[in-house]
Amino acid sequence: MGLAPLHREILGCTRCVEVGYLQQAAPVLSGYPDNRIMLIGQAPGAVEAVRRLPFQGRSRKVLMGWLMRGGFSSEAQIRRQVYMTSITKCFPGKGTGGGDRRPSRAEVDLCRSHLDRQLALVKPELLILVGGLAHDRFLPGRQLDALVGRLFDLTGREVRSRERVRPLVVPLPHPSGASRWLNAVQNRLLLEQALRRLRPVARSLLDGQLVGA
Ligand code: SF4
Repeated sequence: MGLAPLHREILGCTRCVEVGYLQQAAPVLSGYPDNRIMLIGQAPGAVEAVRRLPFQGRSRKVLMGWLMRGGFSSEAQIRRQVYMTSITKCFPGKGTGGGDRRPSRAEVDLCRSHLDRQLALVKPELLILVGGLAHDRFLPGRQLDALVGRLFDLTGREVRSRERVRPLVVPLPHPSGASRWLNAVQNRLLLEQALRRLRPVARSLLDGQLVGA
């Protein structure tokens, strides 16, 4: 199956409605078959669900700013060159604390095959993980401050900055502002380190060169 039929299938998915997890399904993703970079977030928010595009709400500006410090030149370039998807693909609704509800383990499992097939088709060379659910899927059991600022391979092994691995995995915090993690100076320094290490990798891929961190 090619990417277009897979996208049609995912965009038409109503599994979570059928089993009663969601009242409404509005799957969100964006990307092109030639994308070499994939970004995986947690789940779309309310604005994304209406526009059916990733990172449209309040986290958009923060994420775009991070990625531009990480080697991209513009939001237009990011949206053309980065395949954007999420662990679950529909807005999960609001949680009790006022922020978006964190999708349950059952919802993550139900949506898992979509992401597996996206990964198999896109075969990204750089995988940017945004937020806790994405970290849990690929780098489980680790605190944020043991992830952000470091580079990994898909087995979870930390890799050296010049090691050549595909995909290279770069964890970032979630840009929504819901977490207080970035309030701490030392954590902001970790984010800076992550963006500094992302930059040459992103640039080399955008320039069509081989990956080397
Ligand atoms: S969250 Fe995933 S599995 Fe559930 S309805 Fe949306 S696309 Fe389908």
